[in-house]
Amino acid sequence: MRDVRSEIELKTSNSKKAYEKDSEVLGQLVTGTLSIPHPIYVKEADGSRITDVDGNEYIDLTMGFGPHILGHAHPTVVNAVKKAADRGLQYALHNPYQEPLARLLVEASPCAEKVVFCNSGTEATMYAIRAARAYSGKKKIAVFDGSYHGAHDYALVRVKGDSPIDSPSFSPMGFGIPEETLSTVMMLPFRSEKAFDIIRENKDELALVMIEPVQSSNPRLNHADWLRELREVCREANVLFMFDEVITGFRLCYGGAQEFFGITPDIATYGKVLGGGMPLGAIAGNKNIMEVFSRGANDPEAYTNEGIGLPGIFAAGTFNGNPLAMAAGYAAVTHLRDNPEIYKHLADQSNRIANEINDFCQIQELPAQLLSGLSVFYLRIQKGGPIESSRDIDDSMKEADESFFMHLLNNGVVVPGVHQFHISASHTEEDVSNVIEAFKKAFMAVRAEGLM
Ligand code: PMP
Repeated sequence: MRDVRSEIELKTSNSKKAYEKDSEVLGQLVTGTLSIPHPIYVKEADGSRITDVDGNEYIDLTMGFGPHILGHAHPTVVNAVKKAADRGLQYALHNPYQEPLARLLVEASPCAEKVVFCNSGTEATMYAIRAARAYSGKKKIAVFDGSYHGAHDYALVRVKGDSPIDSPSFSPMGFGIPEETLSTVMMLPFRSEKAFDIIRENKDELALVMIEPVQSSNPRLNHADWLRELREVCREANVLFMFDEVITGFRLCYGGAQEFFGITPDIATYGKVLGGGMPLGAIAGNKNIMEVFSRGANDPEAYTNEGIGLPGIFAAGTFNGNPLAMAAGYAAVTHLRDNPEIYKHLADQSNRIANEINDFCQIQELPAQLLSGLSVFYLRIQKGGPIESSRDIDDSMKEADESFFMHLLNNGVVVPGVHQFHISASHTEEDVSNVIEAFKKAFMAVRAEGLM
């Protein structure tokens, strides 16, 4: 009997060839996704499905790392992009595309009175940090253990696994990030009241506390009270409070984590779903904070903050507010606004996946846990007890883990190697049943290999 690796190699020979060619000229593949035994190359995508360059069809749970909440190539979105493209791809001049999407965001996002567009979640958090520093006149920013806020230098930190849970210390994620930059970062314990004390103790230095209201590396929804208290602690300490809604925005529900938890931060960042599948980021906040963008960096007073109280910041990008991203985002978000039943479908199907898979693992006594915050999932195969925080995540069963994802792929379901996945409105009940069956089969196959 052939093993799963050989079976995949046999069916994906064109992907293998593409991978070998890519490696000659590309320093890094598009993303560090599924690399077992080699990445699968996508030829086309439609709804919940992708087809690879060998003609194999899969149910996709990557969904572009989250943007495609309506499914791949949704006709409303694709038509809007085509229509916009016919009129020119990008102008860097004023145009009628930004205002409608900005207005939708202002209406949907409780903290948003004004919006600034950029091109990715990374840019959005970078600008939000700059805005918070300028607005507050303070330097430090605080992130939480287990968080991710993008690839810029300012928050690319990883907790040191041996540091105390209640006072986490961190190191840079990879080399090339100056220590000086990281001296402006603080790390707080997630879902711990100790975070409140650290904020109070450091309030005179802290410009901003930023948080993923649902962590993609540890998705769960049962910390509304803690989040609410965090909001109040920041208010009392006069520290700006930001929700990074790059994942949760328009996904958890139409109004994102702010609506879901009933909490209004000072500022929020967006990306992914907001762009309808095109590259997009946005910063949204109340008028006072957003005024630092409006002032810009050309105001001579902006550099000093003497006497005027509100300096401006530099924020610009060739592609900011480009028609294609604006048109795609407007089409997708309008569709979500006008079809609220989508959120019920996402919640129902997500609960089915989480419940059925976790029940199966429990009955079969499998060391696997599926964490979920509605349509945001994180699967882990590892020894030990329940995962309570990202600190509990380890590679103790790496072999089983890798084999599981290969079996899943072989059963026609793609989950990216980062263990995070999403479903979309285009995943039907039948797709979800197939996904659940594929997971069960993959678990049993790994067990049969003696790895679990
Ligand atoms: N913030 C969060 C919460 C994210 O999950 C991500 C990306 N997954 C980012 C920021 C960065 O967004 P992008 O990849 O678009 O730069």
